[in-house]
Amino acid sequence: MSSVELRKVDKHYAGYHALKAIDLEIEKGEFVVMVGPSGCGKSTLLKTIAGLETINSGQVMINGRDVTEEEPGDRGIAMVFQSYALYPHMTVAENMGFGLRMANRPKAEIDAAVKRAAQILRLEEQLDKRPKQLSGGQRQRVAIGRAITRSPEVFLFDEPLSNLDAALRTQMRVELSSLHGQLGSTMIYVTHDQVEAMTMADRIVVLNKGRIEQVGSPLELYANPANIFVAGFLGAPRMNFIEAKVVSADASGVSVAAAGLPAITLGDIDASGVSAGDAVTVGIRPEALHLVERTESGTPAFSGQVRLVEQLGHETVLYVDASPLQATNSDSGTGNFTLQLNKVSAIGVGAKLQVGFETGDAYLFGPDGRTLTPRKPVAST
Ligand code: ADP
Repeated sequence: MSSVELRKVDKHYAGYHALKAIDLEIEKGEFVVMVGPSGCGKSTLLKTIAGLETINSGQVMINGRDVTEEEPGDRGIAMVFQSYALYPHMTVAENMGFGLRMANRPKAEIDAAVKRAAQILRLEEQLDKRPKQLSGGQRQRVAIGRAITRSPEVFLFDEPLSNLDAALRTQMRVELSSLHGQLGSTMIYVTHDQVEAMTMADRIVVLNKGRIEQVGSPLELYANPANIFVAGFLGAPRMNFIEAKVVSADASGVSVAAAGLPAITLGDIDASGVSAGDAVTVGIRPEALHLVERTESGTPAFSGQVRLVEQLGHETVLYVDASPLQATNSDSGTGNFTLQLNKVSAIGVGAKLQVGFETGDAYLFGPDGRTLTPRKPVAST
């Protein structure tokens, strides 16, 4: 039995179709991250599960029970928000025990639940303090503690780390992942940050314009994005895209050409979806690009000039102007390529380079954006 199941969930706000026939099954104990750009419907979907939004059609099931018409308090869920929503006049202990007090649970039970949550979240020293005496990270832990004390069947997190600075976000990411390991509860987590999705999720749900684009493990989605949207959304730095035209498409593969790039043939592609003249997109991840000393036959290569260098210590990211190649990369802008070298590099701004890649590393997206290249191996963990 799945822990949470959404069946054909549809939601309209006045004149706006926010969720479109969402079907999703989440297993007991899974950590599922819903990710997508701002406005794609992530929060609406989470609030739908929580019962904070009504839906126009479809069903929400929790542990096999149809909760579509149930009040939030009856659903067995606990939600943690971006704004910690703590009561300023209450102590940490009172904040964490609030839900149980409202449910009229006995004091001994509340004290035990607060103590356990405080131990898990390392808040034992803070129990008598008020929220304003705590750091941002501690406040967020109190908000999580308030959820834990209620022993929910499902935890819902709505961008809980967005208000924290970068170092704390990283720390809380690790803490939330180990909390999940400790509690073994079902957790559904909403974020626009693909790094959070990649690092924390058992499975990622990629949303776009109220629809699910793809569901799968982080590495599966990274290696095998179903379409150009998922390919461009997951990965930092982001995938490079080259606008190209199909030269020929037959059983031996699909041959494509782009201004500034010699024709390349991508094998093993079901060519039935494309024909000569079609506008397609070639995708190549920044780490799959490499510098070539001279143009070797068989390896697609193009020339470019370095516009910007980012030295990250363990890697170097180069932003390369590759005109006339029609490249797009939402990190580096139109006409530019992003290239990631897994080492420190002495290359400076203005340097002229030859950049190459293996055709096996390239993706091909059809005119409708769907991935045409065959499955790639998923990196093993
Ligand atoms: P996300 O969490 O992915 O940023 P939301 O779920 O908050 O997106 O919103 C999805 C879409 O629905 C957005 O376009 C937003 O403007 C719209 N929307 C959200 N809440 C309301 C509302 N109460 N009334 C009208 N439109 C809304």
